[in-house]
This record gives sequence, C-alpha cells and structure tokens, in this order.
Amino acid sequence: MELCEYTCWQLHDMLKRKEVSSREITESVIKRIEEVDERTNCYITKTFDVALQKSHQVDDKIRRGEEIHPLSGIPIAIKDNICTEGVRTTCGSRILLNFIPPYDATVVKRLKEKGAVFIGKTNMDEFAMGSSTETSYFGITRNPWNLETVPGGSSGGSAAAVAADQTILALGSDTGGSIRQPASMCGVIGLKPTYGRISRFGLIAYASSLDQIGPITKDVRDCTLLLNAISGYDEQDSTSVNREVPDYTKSLVEDLKGIKIGIPTEYFGKGLDKEVEEGVLDGVKLLCSLGAEAEETHLPHTDYAIASYYLIATSEASSNLARYDGVGYGYRGAEEDLIDMYKHTRSSGFGAEVKRRIMLGTYSLSSGYYDAYYLKALKVRTLIKQDFEEAFKKFDCLITPTSPTPAFYIGEKIDDPLTMYLQDIYTISTNLAGIPGISIPCGFSHDGLPIGLQILGPIFGEEKLLQIAYTFEQNTDYHQQKPKI
Ligand code: GLN
Repeated sequence: MELCEYTCWQLHDMLKRKEVSSREITESVIKRIEEVDERTNCYITKTFDVALQKSHQVDDKIRRGEEIHPLSGIPIAIKDNICTEGVRTTCGSRILLNFIPPYDATVVKRLKEKGAVFIGKTNMDEFAMGSSTETSYFGITRNPWNLETVPGGSSGGSAAAVAADQTILALGSDTGGSIRQPASMCGVIGLKPTYGRISRFGLIAYASSLDQIGPITKDVRDCTLLLNAISGYDEQDSTSVNREVPDYTKSLVEDLKGIKIGIPTEYFGKGLDKEVEEGVLDGVKLLCSLGAEAEETHLPHTDYAIASYYLIATSEASSNLARYDGVGYGYRGAEEDLIDMYKHTRSSGFGAEVKRRIMLGTYSLSSGYYDAYYLKALKVRTLIKQDFEEAFKKFDCLITPTSPTPAFYIGEKIDDPLTMYLQDIYTISTNLAGIPGISIPCGFSHDGLPIGLQILGPIFGEEKLLQIAYTFEQNTDYHQQKPKI
C-alpha cells in the first residue's frame, strides 16, 4: 500500500511512531497527483513546493521530540473558493483567473497553525454553481470510479481527489449540497456542518445565508479530526456562532441504542434511482439491526425546496457577484470607456451558468417582483425549517439518499439546467434550514458507481450524526473500496 492511500489518523500514528516522515507522505501524494491528475483534473493549482517545505518543518518538529497535532504533516487539498494568501484562488472562474488573495481564510489559518500540508487548490463549478464540476473555466473534473462520469459538484475536485488518493484530506463548501453530493458520487465522506459552526471569512461568497465550509475525507474518524480543527467562533464572521466546540472524536463510539431514525417519504418518491433507493434502505435496515429504530415521517414542504432555493441562492449571488467589475481584482475585459469595461469584463469573465443565475437573482430582487418571488421564497424557507424542527422533536436523525442517482455521464445534464437543479433535491433543504448533514458511502450501483446515504440532524447535532455514521462505517466496508485508476 502506498502512503497516499492511508487515512489521516493512520498516518498520524505512523508519524508519531517515526515510521514515516511527513516528507515521504507528501511525496507519495505528489507522485499520485502526477500520475493521475492528467486524467481526473482535480487540481486547478498545485502547491508542491510549499507543501514540501511545510513537511520539512513538521519533520524537524518530530525530530526535536515535540508533540504534533493530528493534522500536522498531513496533505490537505483546499477548494478553490477558499482564500489562500499568496496562492491563486480562482473560484473556477475566468473572472478570478489571476486573483491572488492577500490573506488566508480563517479555516486555512487554523489549519496552517496545526501544521497541515497544503497540496493544492481543487477544481469546482464556477462560483460553486453546479452539481457536476462541468462549469469550471479550468475544464471538467472526472470521477475516478469511471472517467466518463462526473464527480458531482460543486466540490468535485476535492471529492475526486480524496477518492483517488490525490490528497489525504480536503475542504469543500456546501450551499445546496456541494460537499455531500460529490462525496456521495465519489464514495467518500462529506459533512456540511450547521450554519455558523465554521467561519466563512475568506470563503468567496455565493449565497451567504446558505454557504458553509466542511470536511471531505476517507472515513468518519478523519472527518472528526478535520472538523475539530476548523470549527468555532471567529470574530471576523458575524454569522459564526460563539458556542463551545466539542471534541468530535468523542462521537466515535459504536452505539445506536435508543436512536430513532425518521425516513421522510418525500425523499423516496419519483425520480429516485432504484439502486440508490435499495442501497439507502438496506443501510437503514443495517442500522436497525444494530439497535436503532426507524419509522416513516413527513417533511411536507419538500416539493417547494428547489424553487425557493433557486430564488434565494440566485438573489444572494446576484448581489455578491456585483463586486466583480474588473476594477478591484481579477480579470478585466477590453476598455473603451468605463461602462464598456464593466460590460466586457462581466460578459466574458463569467460563464453561462453564472450569468443565468445573476439574471435570475436580479429579476427576483427587482421592484415589482421582490414580493412575488424573493419574499415568498423566504417564507417558504421558514416553513421548510419548521418541517425539520417538527421532525426532530420525534427523531434523532433523518436518513435519505444524498443524491437521486449515482454519478451521471459527462455532458448528460449540462444543457438542461432544470434537470441539473433536480440533482439537489435531497440536499438543499438542509442549507435552507441551516442544519447539519453528512453523506457516507452505502453501496455501489451495478456498474460499480458509489451510492451515498445522507444523515440529517438538528442544529448543532453533529455529534450524533457522526456517531451514527461511525457505527455504520464500522459495520460496512464500502468506504474502504478504492477506484481503479
Ligand atoms: N448545485 C447547487 C447549486 O448549483 C448547490 C451548489 C453548492 O452547494 N455550492 O446551487
């Protein structure tokens, strides 16, 4: 087994026992990237020099006999919408083609302090708008399980990199499913934390009331380690919550006694692939055989989730993306006069999907339509949130499919935005409600593509989600399967 194939906690043990060095781990990951990234295209920017330098520092520390953090010396990939000081951060867009942030996002700062090794910036749908990583200006990312299929999106580069051992850990961001859906399609773990658990400072905004950064990892233990490292209040993000961060590794106990699982019937209807349905329901059976109890329940406003999400997200995006005008930073189009420069910059700097969303959002915020669309969507958002609050009075968690289908073919949905938006049907309500959700591998389709099971919990209910996910993982081996690439 190559070093790049291990998990973070395994490598940490090996580092502590001085069986390997961080340099060897980093070199193994670099070698793997050099072997396969031409085919997967997970990375927009590779930072191998910085990574090797950092690994030497950690090795020196170990040599001096100093204690190291569980993430010290471990390679991590960062989604390219998270700012990294001195390292290009493109958001998958031409408009930020040459943007080099002068500061680190809070999550990056926290990881640096812990000695993590930054291996590169991963590919994504432009401005995180998409479910397939096909809208990136830097080319599509391919799913390591089948290179003709998409890795999901928008954090497709991060999820595919973890699956293909092109990194040990990764960060993604999730506005409507962008951590969980690619994790599910690539057969890895993806957690969207409670809104406010993790600082968004330095995360390039798509829809600020929905965006959240989170871990993408090879197993649940790694997920707890990464979550521990990045969680917590940040005075630079007023939406981060000042609430104590528990040690999430304490959730790594195999115990489902008394756990009540709700199965929302609205998530098992039309459009759900048969194999995905079977995989998820078999997963629920397994959890029940281990001591949990499951019962059907309802989230009655589910039908309105896509419509309200695509109004709220696009409205916020139209405002957030107004700053890309060719003046402050990034790409600048040809300039005859000022207005002409704005026009050129924005029409050639943004791709088609981003422009579609800016137009949708501008429309729904415009006077005369605001009440009919944006305001209505906000009201529906409250109803969706209340559906969950009601459900969590009775259940510890809800279990659903993460995505209605396994990975689909490249090009299959890209020309039909509505079909693409339907990919998010099981993930977006979570963001509208601000609750946490995790996707874990629960099987494979007949043609060998991973299937993901989603566990949802109440606000700040990460610990129980992780405990359930961990127990599931300890009793299955789906997460240990590797794509042959
Ligand atoms: N696919 C959804 C969208 O395009 C979600 C994206 C995300 O979570 N960033 O908006």
